[in-house]
Amino acid sequence: MSYAVKEVYLTRQGEGFHTGRRAVFLRFSGCNLWTGREQDRARAICTFCDTDFLGTDGPRGDFYRCAKELARVVREVWEEPETPREESACSLTPEYFEGEQPPLVVCTGGEPLLQLNSRLIDALHDEGFEIAVETNGTRRAPDGIDWVCVSPKAGAELNLMSGNELKLVWPQQGASPEEYEPLAFEHFYLQPMDGPEAEANAREAERYCATHPKWKLSRQMHKVWGVA
Ligand code: SF4
Repeated sequence: MSYAVKEVYLTRQGEGFHTGRRAVFLRFSGCNLWTGREQDRARAICTFCDTDFLGTDGPRGDFYRCAKELARVVREVWEEPETPREESACSLTPEYFEGEQPPLVVCTGGEPLLQLNSRLIDALHDEGFEIAVETNGTRRAPDGIDWVCVSPKAGAELNLMSGNELKLVWPQQGASPEEYEPLAFEHFYLQPMDGPEAEANAREAERYCATHPKWKLSRQMHKVWGVA
């Protein structure tokens, strides 16, 4: 199979448990809950997406025929100078990126589990990467992923019931935090939905976490830092 990749770039994880950690983002094209086209948003299952995952026109985007070739590109990007993409908006210095942790690749999308397979997992491991995935949880995950973050979407069947991190964008009508609490995740995050109600959502999420200690607050720090 070939891998349809929107973009591959060096940044830092802006959300959830690994917030602030240097990472290569490997963004796959396509999602099973929205086409990515604005004219289809109103009738999509997931209507609040803030990501452009359409096509292969981003940095290092392409159709990759070979898992090893794609893994090599991820490694090359990891080796790049650690410069934020929007320098003027970012207040962090390059020293911020220095650390002892192993190279991290975050497989995201779109929906990465439509394409991520054991061949690519092996190739990324061979390049020395710890592999994280950000998924909507509608697909089972192949073995070998080191960090599974599920972000469930109201109206979509959840098929991935365990993992490292569950991150619920909130509020979502039809997806309440309580229904996810019995699932087998190590960490539970509530992330206020962005948009016109972002501040009100953040205040509500803070209040919820304050009274429900199982849940931690996740903010989209990459937007604060001004990086992708
Ligand atoms: S499931 Fe994720 S990638 Fe797909 S449309 Fe929703 S937010 Fe976007």
